[in-house]
Amino acid sequence: MPAVTGTAGGRNGSAPDLENVQFYRSLLTGAVDLPCLDAHLRTHPTPVNVSMVVNNSCNLSCRHCYLQVPTLADRALGEAEWERVFATALADDTTMLSLNGKEVFLGTKGPGLLHKLVELRRRIAPEKRIGVITNGTLIAPHRQLIEGAHLTFLDISVDGLPEDHDAIRGPGAFAAVRPNLEWAAQILGPRAFVSLTAQKRNLPRFNEAVLHMNGLGIQHVGVSFYHPAPYNDTGLTLSAEDHDRFFRELRGLGAAQLDRPLTVFVEVDTLCPEALTAFLRSDWFSLDRIEMDRSRVPWIDYAFPNGFRMQFKFFPIPWAGYHSVRITPEGSVLSVDDIFDTRLYPLRILATARENGFDFPAMMRAAQDSPRVGRIIGEYHRTLLPRLVGIVAESVT
Ligand code: SF4
Repeated sequence: MPAVTGTAGGRNGSAPDLENVQFYRSLLTGAVDLPCLDAHLRTHPTPVNVSMVVNNSCNLSCRHCYLQVPTLADRALGEAEWERVFATALADDTTMLSLNGKEVFLGTKGPGLLHKLVELRRRIAPEKRIGVITNGTLIAPHRQLIEGAHLTFLDISVDGLPEDHDAIRGPGAFAAVRPNLEWAAQILGPRAFVSLTAQKRNLPRFNEAVLHMNGLGIQHVGVSFYHPAPYNDTGLTLSAEDHDRFFRELRGLGAAQLDRPLTVFVEVDTLCPEALTAFLRSDWFSLDRIEMDRSRVPWIDYAFPNGFRMQFKFFPIPWAGYHSVRITPEGSVLSVDDIFDTRLYPLRILATARENGFDFPAMMRAAQDSPRVGRIIGEYHRTLLPRLVGIVAESVT
């Protein structure tokens, strides 16, 4: 699955940011009203994470894929147009840019754009974090490009043990990705990430799958959760009990025999309220353990004596066009909250690259002024937040 911003390279260090820690504690104890939430989001005038979907084609047809767009709403951006978006985003106050496809390495456009992004970063903002999210099956001809790109992360989507991966991605899919996975682990070390979508089929053997990846050389595994859509396989949907069991059984990794250090990142955010609420019910969650990283993301982090590290990327507020945005192949800006139902994309566009001269700051200003952003925040504050506050109140009594 083309993840939202992928693993984003995992936790971006640590920041002594007590103000933001206090904000999240207040939010989850019911002390943040709507104007206060709105003001907090506006402290992110430039999105930290920008994920750019540079093509609309893929060599696989995965059962859980949400990113199915039969026809683009407008002409896809050309290479010169993407370059203008890249250059202005690099010069802006973003922290991380990622290239997604459907599959970046299918055809020549994605690799060409990666080459251009790397070149522009070298000239404009060498410190900027950049990454690529791929299904990993087509990267062999591009190994030199990837190795020289100094990526912060290369996310390769793997959906569990070989038989579970093939059941989701098609026969032979694991055999196609395995040599590239091993190459990436060897060459990129901790910058090679497996990105795994947890769903009904792979959940019962999740820990086994993670240890299998570790045996292939992988040190970092990022986990997000399957999102049902009317056009993908809703039989993969996880129940509340599945989510609870998932968080319970993660503890087993802390006692496992590891081939090398292993960190598992789990994304718990408002995109998957079922996982977020299960996390709050689990004994992993504590208001006292919230820490901030340098990308202004809250984390809850545990280290085990066997070299296992469990990190929860814990983002209990909407992205709302502030923290993370998605740019589609046509150059439409979407809030990350709106990416899962592609049929609604035409109704959810916050701004477009063409209407804003391919200028990233102008696109973001227009996006954040969109009435859609206010609706996302208002609905969250009215519906999901009270549920979160109720669960936290129960867990501390
Ligand atoms: S690899 Fe699978 S999940 Fe990713 S874009 Fe292609 S079909 Fe969708």
